[in-house]
Amino acid sequence: MSKDEKDVETLGKELRAKTMKVLGRSMAIREVDAGSCNACEVEVNSLTSSIYDIERFGLHIVASPRHADALLVTGPVTRNMEVPLLKTYEAAPSPRIVIAMGACAISGGIFKDCYACNEGVSEFLPVDVLIPGCPPRPQAIIQGIMVALEKLESRKRGASCQK
Ligand code: SF4
Repeated sequence: MSKDEKDVETLGKELRAKTMKVLGRSMAIREVDAGSCNACEVEVNSLTSSIYDIERFGLHIVASPRHADALLVTGPVTRNMEVPLLKTYEAAPSPRIVIAMGACAISGGIFKDCYACNEGVSEFLPVDVLIPGCPPRPQAIIQGIMVALEKLESRKRGASCQK
């Protein structure tokens, strides 16, 4: 970690403050593995482990997209994950935020040009936030989720202006 990089504890406190401001409760995320090598999942799992314990900062990884404020998608989107990814998106309530995590989800990464893969999530869904890295560090994931909260806030504000 460089001296300018914030640690998880500091970022977590910022995340909790932002989550409460935007949602007034914890944020729910449905993670979708769309064909990753699993290293991106290891980083997400590390956030929920007893070391980082991200739930204390108001972030829940949930089992159902129906409970999710955002989808966190990893992998290039393999052909057999195209339909499940679209169904998961359709099942998530609006305003839903889509986060593409890792080089594969952003552009296909090391799987680019593979016969069984696509070139990232944006081929199928409107992506709101990109989290670069291979895999991204836990700090980068938290920062990406804070950007997602800002998008969620502006989308909710837009929806209330239209009423
Ligand atoms: S971005 Fe890297 S770590 Fe993540 S799924 Fe792709 S190859 Fe694996």
